Amino acid sequence: MLILRADEMGMCFGVRDALAALDAIEVPADVTIHGELVHNPDVLRDLDRRGFRRSPEQARTVPATPSVLITAHGVSDRERQRLHAAGKRVIDTTCPLVHKAHAAARALAAAGCRVVVIGRRDHVEVRGLTEDLERPIVVSDVDDVASWPDRRLGVVCQTTTQVAFAERIVAAIRAANPAAEVHVADTICSPTKARIAAIDALLPRIDALVVVGGRDSNNTRQLVERARRGGVPTLHATGPDDVAAGWFAGCRVVGLTAGTSTPDGVIAAVYARLEAIGAGAG
Ligand code: SF4
Repeated sequence: MLILRADEMGMCFGVRDALAALDAIEVPADVTIHGELVHNPDVLRDLDRRGFRRSPEQARTVPATPSVLITAHGVSDRERQRLHAAGKRVIDTTCPLVHKAHAAARALAAAGCRVVVIGRRDHVEVRGLTEDLERPIVVSDVDDVASWPDRRLGVVCQTTTQVAFAERIVAAIRAANPAAEVHVADTICSPTKARIAAIDALLPRIDALVVVGGRDSNNTRQLVERARRGGVPTLHATGPDDVAAGWFAGCRVVGLTAGTSTPDGVIAAVYARLEAIGAGAG
């Protein structure tokens, strides 16, 4: 069984930088991670083991520790000010590409647009994007698109949105609001685009695909959905234990990719498991 790795996969620079910031912290017990740093259970377990505190994404209580770390997903200015006002030392690891999405939303609002955010309503990044805006609209699916009374609409995306999905939503918004000016800012991040392009290049060459990543990881799930829509049997594995030999019966070429929050070690372990299955298959 041949294993083909996607050209681009795994942790993006935003998550790597956030983890590097954590590594530089001398007293983890003094720091609360505000929300989920990455949607990956292995990474979260490791942070707990090292003594970091974590507050749930929905929490609006002020953490007890003297320092609070804002994750790569970012928060609203309102939330950042709330933490400063409570006297917390804020360690900000917001990804620069999330900052860029915030700036795009602010610019559209300043230009008189009602801002429409394409993304998961319950996701911490979307909450950060919308909390500073007046009457924002969140569209998670095409069914959320409606005819709105606004003359100017400004569309931004959660950074991990698939381009094709965003295009479908924007087309639906234009169709439902023919009299409105619809302005679109491209806020989908480059690592997300690169991983999708890599999977598209892989799909015609493989019999099956393994996508490694946490069950709650937005971009991991999108990779799985994309491959399945492309007609390729796809296994979503959180680690090597999810990879069973029987699933690959009859497969000659298997592709491997991973979401942006998946640690290198987990990808390597899944790769090793696939190699063992391949060797067993002779
Ligand atoms: S997925 Fe994109 S926006 Fe999010 S942390 Fe990674 S690079 Fe930044």
